[in-house]
Amino acid sequence: MPAGMIIDLYHLYLHQNHVRLMPPPILDVIRAWTEPLGHTINLRISTENRVKYDTPARVVAISVYTQTAPAAYRIADRFRKMGRIVILGGPHFHADITAAEAADKCDIVARSICREQWEGLLARIESGRISPGQVKAETVIDNDGRFTFPENLYRVFSKKRPWQFTLVPASLGCPFRCEFCSPYLAGMYFNRDIETVWNEVRHVKSPVIGLCDATFGLNKSHAIELMQRLAPLKKQIWIETTISRLRDAEFLDALAQGGVKWIAVGIESLSGSFKKHGAGPEEDIRSVFIEVNRRGMLVQGNFICGMDQDAPDSFGRIFDFCSGYGVNFSYIDIMVPFPTTALFGRYVDDGKIVDMNWDHYDFHHLVYTPSGMTAQQLIDGYIRLYRSITSMLFLMKKAVQILRTAGFKVGALLMIAYSIFTVFDARRKERFFSKSLAALSVRGNIRGLPN
Ligand code: SF4
Repeated sequence: MPAGMIIDLYHLYLHQNHVRLMPPPILDVIRAWTEPLGHTINLRISTENRVKYDTPARVVAISVYTQTAPAAYRIADRFRKMGRIVILGGPHFHADITAAEAADKCDIVARSICREQWEGLLARIESGRISPGQVKAETVIDNDGRFTFPENLYRVFSKKRPWQFTLVPASLGCPFRCEFCSPYLAGMYFNRDIETVWNEVRHVKSPVIGLCDATFGLNKSHAIELMQRLAPLKKQIWIETTISRLRDAEFLDALAQGGVKWIAVGIESLSGSFKKHGAGPEEDIRSVFIEVNRRGMLVQGNFICGMDQDAPDSFGRIFDFCSGYGVNFSYIDIMVPFPTTALFGRYVDDGKIVDMNWDHYDFHHLVYTPSGMTAQQLIDGYIRLYRSITSMLFLMKKAVQILRTAGFKVGALLMIAYSIFTVFDARRKERFFSKSLAALSVRGNIRGLPN
């Protein structure tokens, strides 16, 4: 065992979560920064009740999303009482209010971090200059934007479990600034070096990988060159990009040539258009997706119900859109106004936030008053829609479309398997949302519910 410190690195999740299959790349980054220093990283992707307190670790670092923040604080409290140093970081701390809330709950809050800052923290902990139980947490933030991916990132890929997918970023940031989202490096966009990305993809043993950009391919020439470089590796690639990007035939040809098989697209709402969509009515969007299918690539359409512009007819429009050609698989949630977004600030000002318990910001509870319909209409419409797109008949029809588009390839079979997972997801969310409505009704604090 190396002589350095032992660090338990947790990524927490609630419910059944695919994060165990696809751990966020920042966990790989932390491992790649840490192990060359002689420290040991124990990576644990876990629910709160499976945290191992019987550990020799001197440092416990927890990656926190909003819905796991209360659990992270409870875990941090217990570890600190045991004399361990606790570092909290992750997307939940992108906003001032959420970073401030953690100040007395841990020893270090990492709002963003670069390699030098991480190494500096570990050096100070090792030498005793940071000790457990600080009254007020030290805040780390990468103000100068010095974050870069480690050159040795590909080395940690070999440590993945056989059933885990590797995610490789080809860019960082997102220029679109959607009100309901707070991506890392919002408003910016950087491409990674093509040879570096190629080398990382080359080291992934699995035939399937994800290029996990917030929005893949915004720089067309970079994307085309990358696809040409990746093509000989014959990987089956998953990407997430925008409708506006998919309107370009040359770009689509390059994706198909490079091995892209599965494209996730954030459509969000059919009742209004976002900057990332580019203009166009529903049938125009469908024609874009049919062009994607024509090249053997599958489309996953992601929707958010209950946005400001959505009225009760929005559920039927989503169902009709998903039933037809073009969208091979649909993933649908009710909106969560995360506290790190501009939307949350607006909803607080408008008195629309009805639940500030972060445990409930988990896509299984209603935490705000919708604008274009009542809460009851939103939950009823969502449950009916999710039931409809997870019915056996619907899924069989989609499975035929998927196999016709992509053939009996791993990507197609994975999409069918994921569709089957949504049957269980739909039933679980139905139970949770019904309970959530009942609780809000009892409290009488949401428009459109009987008291
Ligand atoms: S385009 Fe996607 S990643 Fe970018 S801000 Fe909008 S929702 Fe977030």
